[in-house]
Amino acid sequence: MGHLSSKRPWLIVGGGVHGSHLAIMLIAQGVAQASEITILDPRPHIMSKWQEMTNRVEMSHLRSPGAHHIAPDPQALSRKFRKSRNRHITKGLFALPNRRPSLMIFNSFCQSCIADYDLQMCHLQAKALRIRRQGNGFKVSYSGGGDGIWQKVILAIGSTDDTLNYPVWAKENIRKYGNLKHIFEPNVAIDWLSTPEHMLIVGGGISAAQLAVSRASKGFPTTMLKRGPLRIHQFDSSPCWMGSQCISKLQQLTPAQKRKVINEGRNSGSVPPGIAANLRRLDRNGNLKIVDSQVDSVDPGATSIEVKLESGDGLKVKSILLASGYSGIRPGGQLIDFLIQDEKLPISPCGYPILDQELQWCPGLFVTGGLAELEIGPLSRNILGARLAAKRILRKETNVVFP
Ligand SMILES: Cc1cc2nc3c(=O)[nH]c(=O)nc-3n(C[C@H](O)[C@H](O)[C@H](O)COP(=O)(O)OP(=O)(O)OC[C@H]3O[C@@H](n4cnc5c(N)ncnc54)[C@H](O)[C@@H]3O)c2cc1C
Repeated sequence: MGHLSSKRPWLIVGGGVHGSHLAIMLIAQGVAQASEITILDPRPHIMSKWQEMTNRVEMSHLRSPGAHHIAPDPQALSRKFRKSRNRHITKGLFALPNRRPSLMIFNSFCQSCIADYDLQMCHLQAKALRIRRQGNGFKVSYSGGGDGIWQKVILAIGSTDDTLNYPVWAKENIRKYGNLKHIFEPNVAIDWLSTPEHMLIVGGGISAAQLAVSRASKGFPTTMLKRGPLRIHQFDSSPCWMGSQCISKLQQLTPAQKRKVINEGRNSGSVPPGIAANLRRLDRNGNLKIVDSQVDSVDPGATSIEVKLESGDGLKVKSILLASGYSGIRPGGQLIDFLIQDEKLPISPCGYPILDQELQWCPGLFVTGGLAELEIGPLSRNILGARLAAKRILRKETNVVFP
């Protein structure tokens, strides 16, 4: 099977939030038409991974402000739902602080953008397996035995499954027990997450908290196990990274220094104050049990799992859900390993791409998301990271400096 790509000079690998925003910006800025862009993604629809993961944690509102979305104009989402500000907050379409959109209106807005820019017609449902330079472009082989040649490639693969973070005790047991899962691993059924039997949620960050709040509010027995006191921050990194101040400082550093600054700039495993208040309320009411300790060992019986904690206490639960996020290792697995090896691409001591300021790894090959972390900073994986990356990549393509 081959894919005729000569009329589609642009390939975006990954049709998530980043890939969609990049495609929309290429079209909106007149760099390419939808018919000239291919979005390669094995999932059934554009942005289906985002929808699946956010549904799993049952989040009601985004953590990020309403100006962070996939359309070119930051005000477009707010404008669509204008009317009275207060009425929308009362109705739950936006939440304070920062007028954060509900997941429902965010998704509905993104779907309308995907339709307006005809992104579904760009979608080629397959997984990129190997990328090699060929002439002035790149030959990309993908699942199902296909390949094609594109002049420009943007890697927008997000946080891939090979980088899920498993505590050591879980790594040893994850394949053995059907009732021990990571919340972001593939194929976790919503039914399994909403079992009315006792679930242990391991993690102290926003995903653990959102799911714990949701389950406990429904009266499902739930214990949340976290290593220590809640880390409370409105955003998952300092707001300084949203502007140019922190970024200009980052640009002065060596790759090794950048890694340190980025790790320190991230509020990993933190929860916003509103969710922390909900957790405490449910804990006080006895609907949710919150325990500060770590798992020492697990022992599955015929009907339940016995969990021994480092504190010496024990628990009997029906299932264990890990909400331990992603590790910091470079996303992309073999696809990126081969690319580095084949094209001799520069990487920093932490393994991440060394890019130019327009996020080009080598001529014609751009990256966004976690792979662009050393240029964009701690929020490169977030929605705002996509917007910042698009400005840089388009700067290269249009010679226009975007505000
Ligand atoms: C539950 C949850 C809530 C979040 N809430 C927020 C929030 O409120 N605000 C915020 O800013 N951020 C939030 N984030 C962070 C969020 O992940 C990002 O903002 C966004 O999803 C990142 O977009 P992405 O396109 O990089 O990754 P994804 O949305 O994960 O998309 C990556 C795509 O690449 C595809 N892909 C991967 N490998 C390949 C390959 N080899 N070939 C082809 N395709 C491939 C995948 O199938 C996937 O569709 C949240 C994350 C989660 C998990």
